[in-house]
Amino acid sequence: MLLTLDKLSLSHDETAKFLFTLKDNAAIESVLVPFKSRDAVCLSTQVGCAMGCTFCFTSKMGLKRHLSSDEIIEQYLAVKKWVLEKNQQRLPPNIVFMGQGEPLHNFDELKKAIEWLTSPRGGKLGPRQITVSTVGFVPGLERFSELGGVNLALSLHTPFEAQRSEIIPLNRRWPLKDIFEALDQIPLRSQQFINFEYLMMKDFNMTPTHAEALAQLIGPRKAIMNLIPFNPYPGAPWQRPTSLEIEEFKKLLVAQRLRVFLRTTKGDEIMAACGQLNTQKELQ
Ligand code: SF4
Repeated sequence: MLLTLDKLSLSHDETAKFLFTLKDNAAIESVLVPFKSRDAVCLSTQVGCAMGCTFCFTSKMGLKRHLSSDEIIEQYLAVKKWVLEKNQQRLPPNIVFMGQGEPLHNFDELKKAIEWLTSPRGGKLGPRQITVSTVGFVPGLERFSELGGVNLALSLHTPFEAQRSEIIPLNRRWPLKDIFEALDQIPLRSQQFINFEYLMMKDFNMTPTHAEALAQLIGPRKAIMNLIPFNPYPGAPWQRPTSLEIEEFKKLLVAQRLRVFLRTTKGDEIMAACGQLNTQKELQ
């Protein structure tokens, strides 16, 4: 075994956060998010992260190291075992690579893990059951088709280059222009959409101008905008918008004919929601 389960936290909405210790005493987290028909497990691909996004608690850790493909797979197997022990009737969870780390920054180990997870002798999952999320690591996007047709989620968060560079330092190296060029080279299945993740931050990225520029940027691409209310963490410089502000912004996007999906926040009371993972003890 490469991982030991150190702590399991459960929230009232049944989100479960697993804190694992690795052989070298590094710690990572995986999060099980409950859904009616099939749960999703959010897996980590690195210990910490090098990308420095200002809205994300993981970034405060910096990058400690990449995870090996076996460490990535073991997270999945441990969480799946826990799900099936509780209820044998449940389907094995879908996977989202949205935990600690930028998955495409650890491309080769991610690829090996996905190969096993989707193989008939391994995890037996279909590529549609796996989503890889990125903030726009272009060298990985250029190789995305090597991942066997899994789903792609791009953390967009604003359509404006300068504003995006403010919150995602990687955008200075690979701006939206380069990211979209790489995205357009990725072959999609007939029913496949690109997921654009949009973290709604109060007084920052929710104006009518943002909605218009988003519609222009996304254009005719097969896309779904996933709206996520900002999840606060200790010392966060951003605030979560009110329910009214969220609804208003959603209406603006719908008026621009974008496909929009509003994600309910799950697991924030146990710091398990998007952008809240951090295993550096002094920061928690
Ligand atoms: S949002 Fe993702 S890429 Fe950015 S710092 Fe957090 S874990 Fe890393």
